Amino acid sequence: MTDHLVRAIAKEAGVRALACVTTDVARDAARRHEAEPVAAAALGYGLTAAALLGGLLKVQQRVALKVQGDGPLGKLVAESDAYGRIRGYVATPTVTWPAPIDGAAVGAALGQRGLLTVVKDVGMKDLTEGMVALGAGRLDQDLMVYLTRSEQVLSYVDLDVKLDGQGRLLAAGGLLLQALPDYDPARLTALVQATDDLPPLADMLVAGQEPAAMLSSLFGALPYAVLDVTDLTFHCTCSRERSLRALQLLDRSDLELLIAEGEGVVDCHFCHERYVFSVADLHALLAELDTEKRA
Ligand SMILES: [Zn+2]
Repeated sequence: MTDHLVRAIAKEAGVRALACVTTDVARDAARRHEAEPVAAAALGYGLTAAALLGGLLKVQQRVALKVQGDGPLGKLVAESDAYGRIRGYVATPTVTWPAPIDGAAVGAALGQRGLLTVVKDVGMKDLTEGMVALGAGRLDQDLMVYLTRSEQVLSYVDLDVKLDGQGRLLAAGGLLLQALPDYDPARLTALVQATDDLPPLADMLVAGQEPAAMLSSLFGALPYAVLDVTDLTFHCTCSRERSLRALQLLDRSDLELLIAEGEGVVDCHFCHERYVFSVADLHALLAELDTEKRA
């Protein structure tokens, strides 16, 4: 099953539902960052959260979720756009952690004190930012607090990642339920209670149950409609050209230092792509700098 997000709406119940599978995106991120199991799981949780938040965006908007806790993993950043293109990193992917690595372990490795920040680029250079203190012990619960308190939409979030005995990612996925405006919140509460009767999300994914089937199990006899299905991919916006532009911001002494070292390397912290610029490239940048000064 390839990664995707299903958006559905149950109008009578007054609930919006998003369900996704993010196994490949999480594996891709873990491989790129050479992440130890707890970091791979943290990436799985973060990228899944970003996928769900991305599913709430309008076209051309972007969202970034940042977890800055006091745990050994350091900062976790995950971003998505409205087209399911996701990227992310964790500051210290080399952290090791005793098994079992579950949501609580990831929460502890991220830290119990700190902030969860969500920044949305809503277009026209407008950014909106909201934050809540960490403290629930699990990223999905902190995200739930954020959505309910900061965005004031009654929400239920379930993020789930499953690793095998060797610490490899078996499955990652998530579920987001939100009360639609002007609807009875008790309907959402009833649905959230219904999730207790379902197996853990990652177990359902491992068993081959797709997000659409999860929603069907969840809604049961309640009428609902699937609005759309979006493919999810790990995708970074970095490029050789953008990296070159970053080098253009350096001053003469920094460029000369790189020339002396024999190359300039820009390492993207989101995807670990390395862009290497030769001494000739760096001399060209120096020449540009001199032309600019004379102009
Ligand atoms: Zn990149």
